[in-house]
Amino acid sequence: MRRVSILGATGSIGQNTIDLIARAPDAYDVVALTGAGNIAQLAEDARRLNADVAVTAHSHLLEDLRTALDGSGVEAAAGSQAIAEAAARPADWVMSAIVGAAGLAPGLAALQQGSTLALANKESLVCAGQLMLSTAKAHGARLLPVDSEHSAVFQALVGEDMAAVERIIITASGGAFRDWPMEDLANATLDQASSHPNWDMGQRITIDSASMFNKAMELIETREFFGVEPEQIEVLVHPESMIHAMVGFRDGALMAHVGPPDMRHAIGYALHWPTRRDLPVARLDLAEIGQLSFRAPCETRWPALRLAREVMQAGGLAGAVFNAAKETALDGFIAGQLGFNDMAAIVEDVLTKMSAPRGHIDATMSLDNVAKVDHLARQEATRVIHKRAG
Ligand code: NDP
Ligand code: MG
Repeated sequence: MRRVSILGATGSIGQNTIDLIARAPDAYDVVALTGAGNIAQLAEDARRLNADVAVTAHSHLLEDLRTALDGSGVEAAAGSQAIAEAAARPADWVMSAIVGAAGLAPGLAALQQGSTLALANKESLVCAGQLMLSTAKAHGARLLPVDSEHSAVFQALVGEDMAAVERIIITASGGAFRDWPMEDLANATLDQASSHPNWDMGQRITIDSASMFNKAMELIETREFFGVEPEQIEVLVHPESMIHAMVGFRDGALMAHVGPPDMRHAIGYALHWPTRRDLPVARLDLAEIGQLSFRAPCETRWPALRLAREVMQAGGLAGAVFNAAKETALDGFIAGQLGFNDMAAIVEDVLTKMSAPRGHIDATMSLDNVAKVDHLARQEATRVIHKRAG
């Protein structure tokens, strides 16, 4: 039996992971499941999968979780420290699917005990890519990508030599506002931004898809995960979301990964890697689909892409600043304090403020320093938001 833990079990990726695991209950021994506010789901899954421990991020919900688990034999715990401890319990495979920078410390804890970490939490690589990679190396742990584009690239690279890679192309659906007139973007509402044309995902990543902050983070994720230069990474708008990424080789060949927009493919690939097993995803009928389309991304429409390139250029802890500012601006948009276009403007302000002089972003990349910079960037973003509002 493989020992598995799922961090962020109650979310969109977590539930898709549970869907796969629950199909073969005899193959898996579930160690830890973690969540935050959705206690009913967490307790239901912990009971069903007979987990050793269930953890909520919210300390004030511990009693609710205990009550919901009463008589099940599943241990209950709460708080971010408890999540990191659960992540550090011996397991063969750990899914990192917490949303936001909160996923970094638990992911590192899992790597430190040598688990294979299936990484959906792209923020870990954006904030602290080198720290994630060096921790995996030091502890003989393995990182496997779960983001669909990065899983696609990873699969296109099987058996290939990285020295033969010329470029990596990650595709973007263009999100909810791909075809909107530019002048309407400023008035886009939360409801409009929370609906994705192709993928069914958590609310935050769905809004990040509309603003292209998701793709911006994926640019940085690609650089960190595959160790390529920023100039080697391209974004291509592909409205149908069937081709997830392409790898271009020095002989001119492009290897494309094609599949339906269903995260269970990338999750299942990471779960069964290095083998391939049957997965419950739709088989594409390309004749019926008929055609696929592509266009270049417009950086005026999506300033997040330009900001990601600046972050890669700056290096150091600029990614942690970028992510924290983006998370705070996104909170502001969700709370109705900010317009849609204000998010990128705020991230740019915070990046400018915290990158010159470079003191903050040149600090050593440790978990403590990432947390400090994250905190400062959130404070700065909050200050900018209040200033704009006032
Ligand atoms: P969701 O919002 O659906 O789920 C987030 C999960 O994290 C939930 O289990 C939530 O608990 C938990 N959580 C929220 N806040 C905290 C916190 N402070 N501490 C600990 N746990 C917390 O997100 P998604 O599943 O959509 O995304 C998860 C990650 O995967 C993100 O990094 C995203 O970018 C990435 N990703 C997602 C894809 C998708 O298809 N959804 C595709 C590619 C990448 P609760 O719900 O109980 O409050
Ligand atoms: Mg993706």
